Amino acid sequence: MLKGGIPIGKVFGISLRLNYSWFIVFALVTWALTTNYFPVTFPDWSLTTSLVAGIVTSLLFFLSVLAHELMHSVVAQALGIRVHSITLFIFGGVSQMTQEPKQPKDELRIALAGPLTSLVLGGVFWSIWLWLGHASEFLTAIAYWLGLINIFLAGFNLIPGFPLDGGRVLRSILWLQSHNLRRATRIASNIGRGVGYLFIVGGIFLIFRGLWLNGLWLALIGWFLENAAVGSYRQVALQEILQGHVAREIMTRDCPVVSPDLTIEQLVNQLILTHGLRCFPVVAGERVLGMVTLNNIKTVPRDVWSIQTVKDVMTPLNSLKSVSLNEELSTVLRIMAEEDVNQVPVVDGSNIVGMIARDNLLSFISVRGELGM
Ligand SMILES: [Zn+2]
Repeated sequence: MLKGGIPIGKVFGISLRLNYSWFIVFALVTWALTTNYFPVTFPDWSLTTSLVAGIVTSLLFFLSVLAHELMHSVVAQALGIRVHSITLFIFGGVSQMTQEPKQPKDELRIALAGPLTSLVLGGVFWSIWLWLGHASEFLTAIAYWLGLINIFLAGFNLIPGFPLDGGRVLRSILWLQSHNLRRATRIASNIGRGVGYLFIVGGIFLIFRGLWLNGLWLALIGWFLENAAVGSYRQVALQEILQGHVAREIMTRDCPVVSPDLTIEQLVNQLILTHGLRCFPVVAGERVLGMVTLNNIKTVPRDVWSIQTVKDVMTPLNSLKSVSLNEELSTVLRIMAEEDVNQVPVVDGSNIVGMIARDNLLSFISVRGELGM
């Protein structure tokens, strides 16, 4: 869902992106303000005034959400956790951090930074609203609404259901007490699921009361929260299983190398069908040229198997994503997901010394998961 996005800039080394779904929020907020909130509150405003106020308010609302998310990331960076990017999407913002916080106190600080920012912004906008008094109706109207929405954002995010900020606060406290990240995450994410279900029920209730847009919106947020809670717990459990383990532990060492001039037919008959192997480094003399896998072969029509050679279909070395012997398994998993590949070669210098297939990784995870390790 969050893969697509328009890059809009870089702050503190963090790239900022807008997911396409975010434009729905922008349009909805602008529309609701222009056609409903401003005309009802200020009946003597012209449509143009309402529209301009609606767009300005939406833009400042967007900057407020961005500031909230950016402060999470700034605090995380200060605590040594690198943040790749921030993506704004239909339900708010997400910071893509490279790892989970190492200590409960770090998590607490990162989690609180966002809601605190929203609270401060709410205070600033309401101060503007109070100070300006009736000097400018246009500015006070905008400032009042932005103050309200920022305080709402702070309050909403402090709901104690993981992965909302409040859920992270709760997790950090449970983590501090139990010294068990996985258990703390399980409890916090179960509460997160509960909150998600409550939202769905509340949304359905609103729909039956005739408030179908609000109801649908609430139910959708609930559905999203429930999914995110389950996903986040799985992610933490997975990271914990993989933590401290490296590529050399699970790689397959006996990868048969093949010559670039071997035909596909020879490769299939001599190595794949008879030995059940799936991927092969392609080596000419001492030099590694690339790798050929079942996926490469699948792209070649059967009737040209006897003509096409390994060299024609292999993935060349320079476009091959490889890992070192001591690469963390969590990184290997991420590479497989990002590159959408089923195997990653393990290299030592310029030599391919082993191979990690998705199956290797999955069986490592499932065995440890079953043993509760
Ligand atoms: Zn937040």
